[in-house]
Parts: sequence; C-alpha cells; structure tokens
Amino acid sequence: MIAFLSGGTGTPKLLRGIRVHREDRDLAVVVNTAEDIWISGNHLSPDVDTVIYLFAGILDTGTWWGIRGDTFVTHEAILAQGGDEFIRIGDRDRAVHVLRGEALRRGERLTDVTASLCRTLGVEARVLPMADTPVTTLVDTGEGLLHFQEYWVRHRGKVPIREVVRSSREEPRATPEVLDALRGADGVVIGPSNPVTSVSPILECRGVPEALAEQYVVAVSPFIGDRPVSGPAAALMQAFGREPTSAGTAALYGDLVDCFIQDIRDPVQVEGAVRCDTLMVDEKASGALAEQVLRILEKQP
Ligand code: GDP
Repeated sequence: MIAFLSGGTGTPKLLRGIRVHREDRDLAVVVNTAEDIWISGNHLSPDVDTVIYLFAGILDTGTWWGIRGDTFVTHEAILAQGGDEFIRIGDRDRAVHVLRGEALRRGERLTDVTASLCRTLGVEARVLPMADTPVTTLVDTGEGLLHFQEYWVRHRGKVPIREVVRSSREEPRATPEVLDALRGADGVVIGPSNPVTSVSPILECRGVPEALAEQYVVAVSPFIGDRPVSGPAAALMQAFGREPTSAGTAALYGDLVDCFIQDIRDPVQVEGAVRCDTLMVDEKASGALAEQVLRILEKQP
C-alpha cells in the first residue's frame, strides 16, 4: 500500500496517474481539511470531496472540484433570493455536503462520514481526513483575518496577505486511521500540493512527523522557478516566511523527505533533487510522472 498526502488539485492529478498503475484498494490518501467550511448550513470539505470524486470517477477534471455535469439550480436560487453563497456549489455536490453536515451535527467523526460516503460512491481507496477536529487556514490581510476560501474564492486571491494563521480550538491530532496508513505504507508520497494550505496542515497534525520519520518519503514540487503551476502558493509561501520556489518547498519539508522531485524546467537545482517532467497536462502525463514516482519508491533503500 502507498500513502499520499493530498490537497485538492496537484496531488489528485498525480493520483489520476497512479491509478493507471496500481489498484485503488492499494492506495491510502491522507487529505487536508484546513480548507473546510460550513456554507449555507452544510459542510464543505473541498479537498476530501475532490479526492472522493476522483476515485468515484465523477470528478470534474476541468476544474478539479465538483461533480462532472452537475447542475447549479439550488445555488442560483439562493443567489436570486439574496443569499451570500460565495462558492458555486453544484446540486449533486451539495447533496454530499448536506449528508456530511447532518452526520457531523449528530456527532459522527469526519473519518467515519468520509468512509460512508466512499462506500456509497464505490470508492475503494482509503480516503482519510487528516484529523477529526476542525482546523482552519486563515490569512491576515492587515485589515483582519479571512478564511482561506474567502481569500481565494470570494476575493480571487487579489488582496495582499501578511501572514498565514492556522486556527483550531484544540491541537489537531492525526486520526488512528491516518497513523495506521502512514506507518503501514510501503512508502509515502507528498504530491505537488500547496505547501502552505494543503501539506503543512497535515504535517502539523500530532503524530504525522513521527510517522513520516520512520518512512521513505518522496515529495513532488508544485513550483517551477518562482511560480506554482497554478493557484496562490507563491503569495502564501511568502506570507508563511518561505521562498516561493522548489528550494523553499524542500526547505519547508526538511528532513521528512528522502527524495525530492522538481520539474525538468525548473531553472534552479535543489541539492539532491531528482528531475522529472511534473507538468500533468493530461492523464498520459500524470501516468508518466506516476510511473517515475513508483519506480523511485520501488528502489528505495
Ligand atoms: P488545492 O487544495 O486546490 O489548493 O490543491 P493542491 O494544494 O492539491 O494543489 C495546488 C498546487 O498544485 C499548486 O500549488 C500547483 O502549483 C500544483 N499543481 C497543479 N497542477 C500541477 C502539475 O501539473 N504539476 C505540478 N508539479 N504541480 C501542479
């Protein structure tokens, strides 16, 4: 079994390629929940949903969120009635958020709710939220704190940010399921997800660094030069006090990583890094990168 640490875009693109070579039931994916948010009374877990939908074969891989071919009747009705639903939520996608919100209100664990959604959607991979208690990534704009979703979706990342703040009522702990998966894996892959908003929240969960220290860990950089392939990772890395590059990413992960992969186009070599074509423009490119990652894992010392 191979374990992955994932956000909602870069690592799912790699998982799409891994699925070409491995059975879903041989994969465990530890997923970031620090972007979770309650909207219109329901619970969105954007990265968890993307990973579930990918394995269920229903993900919209044009946007890497939501369900392919979904309709937006409820969302449009909410807006028409003056509602402030700043995330465009599809109708079938919303059904998942409704069920999850209900279950969480009944006191169920996010891990169990996720497992139950996976069962009904026919997902065979183990999809594991990093923690069962809420953690939220906020950004400080200088005029106050914004939820990451407010920053990125409502404001389209167009407000300057000074600092990244992780907020939680209690210290986040990796769930027993996450620790079992990380400890029992034949190797762990940190996919090319946003180091600040997707990977760090997982690394900050109690128990994760210790579990990774015992494992062979491969990480793929989401940066080429001083730009991420997509999204706000550069601004977030700066606000996190890190260089927005592959070198900055490698330094952030530090000793936890045994093999760091950077793109063949990256102008600055990270010491000891392996070069691969990491631009997953389609399923074939995802499959090719996945094959190289698997080969590195197979040859691990
Ligand atoms: P989020 O939860 O939607 O922010 O998604 P992730 O954190 O999983 O992924 C976002 C990161 O994926 C960004 O920093 C991108 O640079 C990176 N990314 C997206 N597509 C690719 C790709 O094809 N190759 C690489 N190397 N990185 C990618």
